[in-house]
Amino acid sequence: MKFVIVVLDGLRPDQLDEAVTPNLAEMSKIGLRLVRHTSSFPSETRVSSAALATGAHSSAHGIIGNRFLANGRSIDGSSLAALVTLGSERGGVLTATTIGEVLAAHGRAMLSIGSQSQGSFGLSSWGSWQTGAAAFWVHDPSKFSSTAAVHRTASSFPLLPPDERPARATIERVVDLFFSFLTKAALPEVSLLWLSEPDITYHMFGLQHPTAREVLHEVDRQFGRIFAWWSEKGEREGVQLIAASDHGHAIIGEKVSVLNHLQRSGFKVGYELTPDVDAAITAQRVVNIWVRDREGRLLTEMYHSLSEEPWFGVAFSRKAADGSPLVANTLPLSAVMAEHQRSADLSFVLADCSAANRNAPPDAVYYDGAYPIGVGMHGGLSANELSSLCILAGNGFKTGVAAVPTSIVDLVPTILSSLRLPLPSTVQGRIIDEALQDREDSSQYDVEDASVSVASSARRATVFRERYGQRLYLRGAAVTRLAQPKNGRPDANPTQLNT
Ligand SMILES: [Zn+2]
Repeated sequence: MKFVIVVLDGLRPDQLDEAVTPNLAEMSKIGLRLVRHTSSFPSETRVSSAALATGAHSSAHGIIGNRFLANGRSIDGSSLAALVTLGSERGGVLTATTIGEVLAAHGRAMLSIGSQSQGSFGLSSWGSWQTGAAAFWVHDPSKFSSTAAVHRTASSFPLLPPDERPARATIERVVDLFFSFLTKAALPEVSLLWLSEPDITYHMFGLQHPTAREVLHEVDRQFGRIFAWWSEKGEREGVQLIAASDHGHAIIGEKVSVLNHLQRSGFKVGYELTPDVDAAITAQRVVNIWVRDREGRLLTEMYHSLSEEPWFGVAFSRKAADGSPLVANTLPLSAVMAEHQRSADLSFVLADCSAANRNAPPDAVYYDGAYPIGVGMHGGLSANELSSLCILAGNGFKTGVAAVPTSIVDLVPTILSSLRLPLPSTVQGRIIDEALQDREDSSQYDVEDASVSVASSARRATVFRERYGQRLYLRGAAVTRLAQPKNGRPDANPTQLNT
């Protein structure tokens, strides 16, 4: 049995449609569609790359954001050099075992071809390319592995246009390299192909713009070349095809600068923990704050300065020595499987825009960063950002629709168990028995509501979660502002502000 996993970056499953994505629609009909499939948190590409590689959440793999603080400095996860330097230090890069490492340890091969950032590519096949497995990063195929097959294959293609947006020729190259590789070498046990669209175009135009629809159609056309090969040949040879995305997308409805807000409020903050500041922050859809020496009083003051703002969503903090969250009225980071030694002291998602404006579109969210209003964004805890594609096809899989909760971290255990390989102890996902042909039809668990809330006199913050098969699945988040009527009693019917 062999696996070919094709990741279509940022594809939100509700964008599938017979006219725009005919190949994915056809695969849904003949294969198995996981309709409650979600990403890990935060729903950022480098975190998802690590989740896909390890079958674990950031609490285990340690890539707690696209950018994070480690060993006292800010690490940009898109930079391979930054990751490799971190890897040479105490603590390493990933603190969980990857599928690439398991395959290599058992003499099996992995092929990776991708057009995402260099750092994301490195993370998605971490432990594989270091051992000499074939790895083509399309922007510079010499970067990751030096095998003769890679050189022979890559040298026959011209250089790609640098930083192509939309990345039409770039994603075509991923598929071209796959077929070129197949003419020169045998298909390994696991192949991971990562197409950086439609994500790039969603970040430029949003999801509904004609160009976004065109590029999605092109993504489907490129995927369709693999699907056609699989239908004609791969399926008969026992190849299991998986089409997946790493996260969904919301739309930037309003922008905010949390750094400016904190500075105006008198705090000394910066993007790095330099001697002249008391705290470092990273901000996109999730804002992370690291306070010097984990100073509890300063963190609490910052929380109070932030928590009244309409854009302040659900907040999390590390556990203090006594096990309670470091900041009162926040949830523990472990509630979203994100507590790690590298975690920020205080993390919060920016709210949905409907929190402050009932007329805002349902997927509009607050955002802190360089992208403009109206385009796609992800990273937070909204259902639109968490929602991810997963379609499975092949003789190892059942067909139809599986409506049980599944997540990106479930793919590694499912694939490894199908290959009869051991699961690393760091795996947090589960084997998706409901998807596997040789397992009992085992919807044997009940889906339990495992949502968690924390409330102060002013607001209630909730993370919607489900428990299934002893695993937690994230569904969304909400903030309910508790009105303070004149008589001092909280409003009996608080307004639902953020879902
Ligand atoms: Zn992504």
